[in-house]
Amino acid sequence: MIYIHVPFCHRKCTYCAFYSVRSSEFGVRNYVEALLREMEERKGEQAHPIKTVYFGGGTPSILPIDLLARIVEGLRHCFDLSQVEEVTLEANPEDLTPEYLASLRTLGVNRLSVGIQSLDDKVLRLLNRRHTAQQALEAVENAHRAGFDNISVDFIYGIKDPKDFKVFKDMVSHVSVYALTVEPGTALAVQVEQGRVTLPGEEEVVRQYHALHRQLEEAGFRQYEVSNYARPGFESKHNSRYWDRTPYLGLGPGAHSFDGKKRQWNNPDGTVGEETLTEADAYNELLMTSLRTVRGLPAEVVAKGQKEKLQPYLDCSWLVFQDGFYRPTTEGLLHADGMAAALFV
Ligand code: SF4
Repeated sequence: MIYIHVPFCHRKCTYCAFYSVRSSEFGVRNYVEALLREMEERKGEQAHPIKTVYFGGGTPSILPIDLLARIVEGLRHCFDLSQVEEVTLEANPEDLTPEYLASLRTLGVNRLSVGIQSLDDKVLRLLNRRHTAQQALEAVENAHRAGFDNISVDFIYGIKDPKDFKVFKDMVSHVSVYALTVEPGTALAVQVEQGRVTLPGEEEVVRQYHALHRQLEEAGFRQYEVSNYARPGFESKHNSRYWDRTPYLGLGPGAHSFDGKKRQWNNPDGTVGEETLTEADAYNELLMTSLRTVRGLPAEVVAKGQKEKLQPYLDCSWLVFQDGFYRPTTEGLLHADGMAAALFV
């Protein structure tokens, strides 16, 4: 699988701690040239069949169609894409015009992940998003009309209850939900510190999580990972492979790669970082990822002497044992990271 990092954003959202830069015509064109060079240099690295391609960011929908077409052409030239099943592009609503969407389809993009975050204009302004709730809805309608049947929308909870998902009717097949976190160094951190923004306490955030969960289940979505819900058959193939530890190639500044043993990442300054995973690292990563999925942790991989440590979580119903897997319950998913950390070797 291939991940392409597009580091540009129109402007910075208040809560965002990701690496991203303002787009300028010059910067975007230079970026594409560098990306094409990187593809040429690294084309031998992806030994596994490529089943998914993911354009993530930043805001990939900032890229004009002619530049996206050059990237896709570069990918076709350097890699065997004959087995690709899913090509996802992360997009912001304001970029999704009917013309842009039609061109995306021509380029082979068959899945959209739209950063909606909220259907409340006040919340959108507070987060410094560029779109309104109405634009978000129109973007999804445009995408649906353009023939996209695999549309994911992102939502943030932990501010106000996200509004009713029913507005999307059957147009959306996947929903990602994230709790708002206050990351150091962000504008939001400053606003909270200065008392200009007050966020709800933990109890209210947990209540919102459960309310959201109920609403999504009632609308026909099933949770398959702590942050991800899908209609049957629409789970993200790309993300599910990360959790299975399938090797992947990441291109672009800030992208990570994994060859099964070694993790490698591009630093924004052009240098490359590298880390070889020890057996303990690999085990801890497996704990971390599998306890975040409803499939759970396979009993056969649990390290010696660790089964006793899982018992308290079974007793308090954060986990259930089923078909050879320790599966987190809805409540347990909220504590997935804590459970994993307690089991780290
Ligand atoms: S669009 Fe996404 S990557 Fe860009 S600033 Fe906002 S949250 Fe960060």
